[in-house]
Amino acid sequence: MVYFMGLDVGSTASKCVIMNDDEKVIADAVITVGAGTSGPGRAVEGALTAAGLTQDDIAVTAATGYGRNAIGFAALTVSELSCHARGAVWLQPAVRTVIDIGGQDAKALAITPDGRLDRFVMNDKCAAGTGRFLEVMARILETEPSEMGGLDAQSQKRIEISSTCTVFAESEVISQLSSGVEICDIIAGIHRSVATRAASLAKRLGTVPPVLMTGGVARNGGVVRALASALDIPVLTDERSQLAGAIGAALFARERYGKSIV
Ligand code: ADP
Repeated sequence: MVYFMGLDVGSTASKCVIMNDDEKVIADAVITVGAGTSGPGRAVEGALTAAGLTQDDIAVTAATGYGRNAIGFAALTVSELSCHARGAVWLQPAVRTVIDIGGQDAKALAITPDGRLDRFVMNDKCAAGTGRFLEVMARILETEPSEMGGLDAQSQKRIEISSTCTVFAESEVISQLSSGVEICDIIAGIHRSVATRAASLAKRLGTVPPVLMTGGVARNGGVVRALASALDIPVLTDERSQLAGAIGAALFARERYGKSIV
């Protein structure tokens, strides 16, 4: 069997998948630190160990993400947009719109009926509407991003976070906390604010269903629900949504191998 590695070195997290020649993901690893840290190396080690393989067993490695150019052993580097689109189609073959919210940016991708990236819009200028915004809010609320979806589900009262800037939203949340607003209601308001920004990106593209959410923030069920409500259409997700970029990279690695042996 031939194996391929896809490594997505994000700003916030490092993701690695190992894929076999049948395009099946046989192992993966996510490390919650990204470019410029030990994260990429640890993600590679984690995935190899989970697969029971060594680096010598990997035919081709492709790297993507913000830190992709620092991966010396990668035979090729591929843009995040291409990898996310390809990984999203692997996760959900019928997908026509991908909404990817990562640690420091958010993107909406339009996919053609035959599964190719058509157009995209992106917010990489501002932390609001990204995973970073959620991390800042989690810290003030003394919780973790991984707990926020469950807390949101307990919300009974609708409150708005009106500030669009992360710094002002931080002050607004602190003031709500000190006036006794329930944490779960604040979290639901935070999720609606992230979802509103992502929905406006998607609307600029023209949202064609099925819609799939990718990136680490897709693991937050509160944001997924708020996004479906903001777009007024179902939003799909997948337990491997955070791996979409790494899966896309592994598919490019497999394609490169196919070309090299022809
Ligand atoms: P990047 O590729 O930009 O490094 P990711 O797509 O991996 O980022 O997303 C990282 C973000 O995903 C974090 O900022 C955090 O908000 C969110 N996240 C990661 N893991 C979880 C989790 N288990 N539950 C909820 N949110 C998560």
